[in-house]
Amino acid sequence: MKSGIAARPGSADVSGEAERRRTFAVISHPDAGKSTLTEALAVHAEVIAEAGAVHGKSGRRGVTSDWLEMERARGISITSAALQFAYGDTVINLLDTPGHADFSEDTYRVLSAVDSAVMLVDAAKGLEPQTLKLFDVCRYRGIPVITFINKWDRPGRDALALCDELIDRIGLAAMPLTWPVGPAGQLRGMLDLAEGNTIRYQPAAGGGAAPDLRLDPVRAEAEFGEDWRRAREEADLLLAAGGDFDLTRFTAATATPVLFGAAVRNFGVRRLLDLLVGVAPGPAPRFDTEERARPLDAPFSAFVFKVQTGMDPAHRDQVAFARVCSGVFERGMVVTNATTRRPFATKYAQQLFGQQRSTVDIAFPGDVVGLVNATALRVGDTLYAGKPPVRFPGLPSFAPAHFAVARPADLGRAKQFRKGVEKLGAEGVVQVLRSDRRGEAAPVLAAVGPMQFEVAAHRMEHEFTSPIRLEHLQYRAARRLADPAQRALVDAGRRSEVLTRLDGTDLALFVEEMDLRLLCRGNPELVLEPLVAEGG
Ligand code: GDP
Repeated sequence: MKSGIAARPGSADVSGEAERRRTFAVISHPDAGKSTLTEALAVHAEVIAEAGAVHGKSGRRGVTSDWLEMERARGISITSAALQFAYGDTVINLLDTPGHADFSEDTYRVLSAVDSAVMLVDAAKGLEPQTLKLFDVCRYRGIPVITFINKWDRPGRDALALCDELIDRIGLAAMPLTWPVGPAGQLRGMLDLAEGNTIRYQPAAGGGAAPDLRLDPVRAEAEFGEDWRRAREEADLLLAAGGDFDLTRFTAATATPVLFGAAVRNFGVRRLLDLLVGVAPGPAPRFDTEERARPLDAPFSAFVFKVQTGMDPAHRDQVAFARVCSGVFERGMVVTNATTRRPFATKYAQQLFGQQRSTVDIAFPGDVVGLVNATALRVGDTLYAGKPPVRFPGLPSFAPAHFAVARPADLGRAKQFRKGVEKLGAEGVVQVLRSDRRGEAAPVLAAVGPMQFEVAAHRMEHEFTSPIRLEHLQYRAARRLADPAQRALVDAGRRSEVLTRLDGTDLALFVEEMDLRLLCRGNPELVLEPLVAEGG
């Protein structure tokens, strides 16, 4: 069962190493059970390393990073990184998608570094806003999604209704692989639709995993009676309506395999791991800016999907999290930053576990490395070894939902203010929006989650020595204005305006969706395009 990741250092078989990796993230709404599922997965696997230290819930892992004073003060983690497992011969990289109060643009960016996603749904709640937003990003990137319907051990919705919701709300056809015997809250077993047997529900104590006890159809019907017949009927209904597992539809992200389970009882979780190993895609060659696919066994290349800045002034630390795209990463190697064309020495490559940092010596495509002291690295940067140079496309910006005007608290520091805001915008800490109307001195900061403002304000004060005052704006909806000539139409409204982002995109902002609809109704010629991951 345990083969370990470091089993093959020095191996030249990069393609083979890439093939045995599965890099994914869990997309869910807070409280659906992501932390519980992560732990349940880890029970089945050998945990190799955890980069970035993670779950800020006290008493859970007992690991809290003391990295950022803000983290300490609020008891949450704003670090996102990867947990690495060995499961049989597979190396699994589970990337954290911060939720709760630390939901931010970084949460979306993590999805640029995964090859598949597990959509975790609370059986009592169905699809929830944060899940939908994250799914939107998966769709945009064409990431295949496995659906895990959780908490079947307690009352919830009807299994068929939950599957219908997938197709009705997000256009994903459900391909059930298991089906619960007994309604939510009265779980008795799980039909394994591939083999026809039923796994008896045995709540595992203390989060451990009980071995599967399989019953053939005759025994299962005898034991579970009407519950079993009903489960069989419901599942057959869906299978007859085109719900058979189809790998092509899964990888094309038009259909999703569906599993049911109870993470807290570690029931159904092993099946999820087996599915990840069996059907989820491993790392694929990544396209560069010239649209050439970089082969997995080309020399080392990686892109930075997250930069974590230590805000403690005594600790001016910066960790860049990079996903390896090709080749072998070996600690100490000197790579080139494609943006600056400068060399970058990786002798501080580390994985972080709480306050302890362990060194990464070797990594393959699909793995995540944390590069410490990476002050020159930015989100979206490409790193590569050898020649010729390679550059992967930068990471997109996502639909912001929070807006605030920033002004220097000390007018005498206007220069530092301008420089700081520019830098934070370029790093993607917040989006920076401007308009002639508001002027250079009053940029609007835009964020996916409000914590981004706190990070920005903190860095403006401590790093750029220009404390800022934020005036929050009422806007909640944003769209891309396709034709700059139509700007006046939006600016004319009292509850809307157009601002231009640093990347040149014109964003039309509205106080409410209703204002947007009214304006469009009155001006049918107006073209407003959705941004990725909007709404909710
Ligand atoms: P997260 O916010 O998504 O990380 O959710 P947590 O893992 O913290 O879970 C939220 C709550 O749901 C906790 O009280 C968990 O114990 C509970 N929970 C998670 N999975 C299950 C499950 O399968 N069944 C039941 N009954 N509770 C669960």
